[in-house]
Amino acid sequence: MAKITRKPAPRKAPVPKKKAKATVARPRALAKKSLKATKPKSTKPWTPAEIHEVFSRFRKANPEPKGELEHVNPFTLLVAVVLSAQATDAGVNKATRELFKVADTPQKMLDLGEERLREYIKTIGLYRTKAKNVIALSAKVLAEFGGKVPRTRAEIESLPGAGRKTANVVLNMAFGEHTMAVDTHVFRVGNRTGLAPGKTPLEVEFGLEKVIPAEFMLHAHHWLILHGRYTCLARKPRCEVCLINDLCRWPEKTV
Ligand code: SF4
Repeated sequence: MAKITRKPAPRKAPVPKKKAKATVARPRALAKKSLKATKPKSTKPWTPAEIHEVFSRFRKANPEPKGELEHVNPFTLLVAVVLSAQATDAGVNKATRELFKVADTPQKMLDLGEERLREYIKTIGLYRTKAKNVIALSAKVLAEFGGKVPRTRAEIESLPGAGRKTANVVLNMAFGEHTMAVDTHVFRVGNRTGLAPGKTPLEVEFGLEKVIPAEFMLHAHHWLILHGRYTCLARKPRCEVCLINDLCRWPEKTV
């Protein structure tokens, strides 16, 4: 032990210079490496004809795809989407089925109050924060938008608990706009297939909006979600029954 050198001696000027160089260079190299690891593998981009073919197949198999979050009007859709953050649609539906019987408008939600709302949604993760947000957004919808869910992205995103994904879902499902909400399933499918690779949900959203023909945009969000949820599963994709397995660019597909 005693021989461990802790002498202040070898502090010559050139040494720190060299060392300093090494410590700066190394993290940079590492950062580059980890960025490469997360970067989607570049594959040959899909041709417009292939993209048309993919969505034609989705349409043929399921002409009117539906979202799985239960709701009875735009307001309950908005609430359901806010409640669905980091929760499953099935779990949210279980709670909202009873909730929406008593509170399907902003006024009724306010009348119910935060405490009783918590009781309805206590099986959903983060329910305390979500209850607070739902009451606050109900108050804002009443005070600033005449009790109606607003129809612009900026207005929806201004509501407590609502972000870009919420706005995209509401605009698409309640108002028929050609928006693309990117959840974990859409993000995976966009990257895996090579349809719209991107490092962030926003990049994938823009990529998909750019390549999907307008005629498919109304339902594209649901086709991709359902595809990711039931076929292109995260751990074990069911490539053998996949409608688009001949077109998919994923090097690890199993067919
Ligand atoms: S072939 Fe496999 S990986 Fe490709 S989209 Fe279909 S299920 Fe997903």
